[in-house]
Amino acid sequence: MERAIVKGSPAQMLNHPWVYSGNLVECKAEKGASVEVYSKSGVFLGSAIYNPESSIALRFYSRKRDKLDYYAIKERIILADGKRKRYFTEPYYRIVFSESDMLPGLIIDRYGNGFVLQINSYGMEIRRSEIVKALYDVFQPDFIVERSSGYSRRLEGLKENSGVLMNESGLDLTRVIVAEGGLKYYVDLLKGQKTGFYYDQRRNREIIENYISGGIVMDLFSYVGAFTLRALRKANKVFAVDISEESITLLKENVKFNGFSEDRIIVEVKDAFDFLEEVGSLKLKFDFIIMDPPSFAKRGRDVESAIASYIELVSKGIDILENKGQMAIFSCINYIKWEHFASVLQRGTRSTGRSFSILDYMYQDFRDHRVPTNFPEAEYLRGYIIKEDI
Ligand code: SAH
Repeated sequence: MERAIVKGSPAQMLNHPWVYSGNLVECKAEKGASVEVYSKSGVFLGSAIYNPESSIALRFYSRKRDKLDYYAIKERIILADGKRKRYFTEPYYRIVFSESDMLPGLIIDRYGNGFVLQINSYGMEIRRSEIVKALYDVFQPDFIVERSSGYSRRLEGLKENSGVLMNESGLDLTRVIVAEGGLKYYVDLLKGQKTGFYYDQRRNREIIENYISGGIVMDLFSYVGAFTLRALRKANKVFAVDISEESITLLKENVKFNGFSEDRIIVEVKDAFDFLEEVGSLKLKFDFIIMDPPSFAKRGRDVESAIASYIELVSKGIDILENKGQMAIFSCINYIKWEHFASVLQRGTRSTGRSFSILDYMYQDFRDHRVPTNFPEAEYLRGYIIKEDI
């Protein structure tokens, strides 16, 4: 293996899985290659994959002298699955979470015995066949789908890439079933959002369900209805709004699939901000509003504009919130920290002339969306529930 020399304190380098390009002193390896990393003073720091075109020049995958070949990938997948199996009795979870499982830039979600990959680093891009072979040899999967898209790929100099890598089962991959919390969901693994289903919200769905008691619920940014179905178990009526027609079609199928009566649900394919305006003028009020928008900030410098969007959602949401109502709002980007979010709530409620208190806070399900203590960047999902004071 080629060597890479880096500057900065070895103690610091040993405690984080990335080396930024500004800290790279020398590396003659090819793009995507495995390299042994040393400090300028000669201390061995670990093995990493190299991308000279990314601002993250090195991504560690081991603190030993290891290759990142088929065997290493297979071993890490087995290890990662073992870590999840302790907590989940059913095979529906994020089985590989990138740096958190020492497979930097690789995400794999598990759907029963099928898998969806998202490749976000050049090092993983050139190891696609080893990844697929490893998954195949460990699980003999029903299917493997790739859904590699998103901003982080662009930063690595990669184009979007989606498709079916194998489907020996012949299953209809536009209607794969996910089981969660005693409910079943159809998801479309070929055209759905991201990797198909948002496992990261699993525990928050449970928390929110527990706070709903009768009344009317609004699920804004509903996707295929994961929160909607939870709400249907507790509320009298649920509204679901999403800009994507395909998502709403699946949501309606999911309502039927779980045996809920269709007249308890009202759906709308619409931009959430427009919807809030329109409903505001109708004087329709909700007892619980759930807002789980897509990420408004792709980069650190987008934080201010993202905060403005969250503030708008909070204040417009309150306009249609019943007296003593509850509202849950999420942010799914690492750059929006708790302190930003607290300020969103403070500023979003200020103009409404009503007073609210925090009832609970929420975060990604850490059991599969793991966050190593030396990699706080992996923590990205944050949410609050607020309630109007009596
Ligand atoms: N709450 C869902 C996940 C939501 S993902 C769950 O737990 O499964 C975000 C959703 O917002 C996507 O379905 C996307 O189609 C939708 N969306 C994006 N922009 C939107 C907009 N401007 N108005 C309404 N929906 C939007």
